[in-house]
Amino acid sequence: MSDGATTGKGVPVRLDKVSFSYGEAPLTFDVAFAAGEITAIMGPSGSGKSTLLNLVAGFETPRSGRVLIGGIDVGADPPAARAVSMVFQENNLFAHLSVEQNVGLGRSPSLRLTEGDRAAIAEALERTGLGGKDKRLPRELSGGERQRVALARVLVRDRPVLLLDEPFASLGPALRDDMLDLVAGVHAERGMTVLFVTHQPQDARRIGQNVVFLDDGAVAATGSADDFFVGGGPEAFRRYIGAGA
Ligand code: ADP
Ligand code: MG
Repeated sequence: MSDGATTGKGVPVRLDKVSFSYGEAPLTFDVAFAAGEITAIMGPSGSGKSTLLNLVAGFETPRSGRVLIGGIDVGADPPAARAVSMVFQENNLFAHLSVEQNVGLGRSPSLRLTEGDRAAIAEALERTGLGGKDKRLPRELSGGERQRVALARVLVRDRPVLLLDEPFASLGPALRDDMLDLVAGVHAERGMTVLFVTHQPQDARRIGQNVVFLDDGAVAATGSADDFFVGGGPEAFRRYIGAGA
């Protein structure tokens, strides 16, 4: 994959009859994510949401089937996974590095930063409301601020595919809405493909264009966000919500 293909607009992501297993119970995913759209991924705890994202990111390898990013089989051409960046629920910021340096890692693993890199970092810090906190260490930030650092880091990476694994789950509703709006705003500008795991149907409605609902290690229902929730949603989803999601 050329460098040109690792920045800029979204590319399609597809799991083609992928199966995977940590032990006994297999997970199987056969699902496509349209280029440049935001898809909310929902489902009960243990249904396979994180595993799906980890397969796309290349952190896990399918037992069978293919993961295609921009039409390229990541198994056959691992550099294709460079198109992807990810924010986790609990972030591994480097404790001894400042906010600015943690964000800078998204630009250069060796932190050899150009003028352009520094400008992009300053802009991402401003956007995420971290301007003025750039010299702080992670331990000098709130949990919500640490999640914003992680978000700023993927914003400066500017990859065609953005994976968000419940990154805002620990934030209160108002702050969560702010962060979701920020993701939606960046998406409107850049048009990257976003796979967004959330437990909150209102989050899926707020920024999702599509919904994929997982149950028991497989895709149980999909739809456009406009259609998915009509009448309370598909039956498996209603059971999940009824169980007090
Ligand atoms: P979700 O993100 O939807 O909560 P996961 O993808 O984390 O679900 O988990 C899917 C299944 O795989 C669950 O049964 C979970 O217990 C199992 N699992 C997840 N990670 C591991 C792991 N590192 N080792 C063994 N089993 C795992
Ligand atoms: Mg998970």
